[in-house]
Amino acid sequence: MNRSSIIEEHFMRTRLLQRYYRALWLPVLLWQCPLPPVQYGIKHVSGGGSVKVAIPNSNAAVKTNSRFGKRKRLNVTYEIARVDGLCEESMISPYFQDNLNVRSDAVDKKSKWEPPHWQEVLRNIQEMRKNKDAPVDNMGCDKCIADDVPPKVRRYHSLISLMLSSQTKDQVTFAAMQRLRQHGLTVSNVLATDDEMLGQLIYPVGFWKTKVKFIKKTSQILKEEYNEDIPDSVQKLCQLPGVGPKMAHLCMNIAWGLLTGIGVDTHVHRISNRLGWVQTTTKTPEATRVALESWLPRELWDEVNHLLVGFGQQVCRPVGPACSTCLNRDLCPFGRSQTKHSKKKQ
Ligand code: SF4
Repeated sequence: MNRSSIIEEHFMRTRLLQRYYRALWLPVLLWQCPLPPVQYGIKHVSGGGSVKVAIPNSNAAVKTNSRFGKRKRLNVTYEIARVDGLCEESMISPYFQDNLNVRSDAVDKKSKWEPPHWQEVLRNIQEMRKNKDAPVDNMGCDKCIADDVPPKVRRYHSLISLMLSSQTKDQVTFAAMQRLRQHGLTVSNVLATDDEMLGQLIYPVGFWKTKVKFIKKTSQILKEEYNEDIPDSVQKLCQLPGVGPKMAHLCMNIAWGLLTGIGVDTHVHRISNRLGWVQTTTKTPEATRVALESWLPRELWDEVNHLLVGFGQQVCRPVGPACSTCLNRDLCPFGRSQTKHSKKKQ
């Protein structure tokens, strides 16, 4: 081989290598595309072989044939395929792993919405509630349960007090529970009591006639299916007549000591919307529960119900909230709008 052919061969190889490595940038370009934040990796690279980019949840495939020079053909295949079994973690280059972390962090941050200044707002509510002198503090459902009865009966008391508390003031629920306990609040005793008598015992709780029917039906189910105990899951509790998610979550906490979700009643629902603690206005307590649980740290779930119920009874009332004296008046969107409104009037 003469000198000129050696130089020509050398240049040809150099050009070939340049084009080949340029072609390897395609996976990088693919990475920049707005694809889902999933695992990417180069499966196999070899001279004149194939390059595979694995993307889960996609069956798309891109194949590129490139002609390099006149004398040799180099096929470089890019394949986009499901990651299952194809893209193991060890196969992902550190470059892609770093980018994956950045992208998943970005997604986490994006999905992790939380209301501005919520810690400060919460501290202010804790300050306003420090005396613990709201009706819920002394006459809430957890205060309606007898201490001197077996655990099974205590759990039944929790459930009945929660059923009575719906659409009813704490004072009225507490008084009705006192009368029921004096009468004998057990599953068998309630079943043995006629509807009229039961109605007299719980009157004037809200919707007392309907509640008489619910209590009777529930007690019958508890006798037949739960050996006079109450169900131990939210799902099963919600199957009882007159028991909804709010009651079920509170019941799991009070009766079983298990924290399964935030108990959102009308106070928690109203205040969360006034404070802007939900990303978009919610129409139902259940939607508020989901919205709150999406950002509020779990260790506060237990406290927040009690805190907001009492706050709603004393300060952030349904009608005529005391915004002018509330510590959150400058942080709360509803409070600010009230202040502006009253200034305009003056
Ligand atoms: S400023 Fe008014 S609406 Fe806002 S939390 Fe206080 S009392 Fe409620």
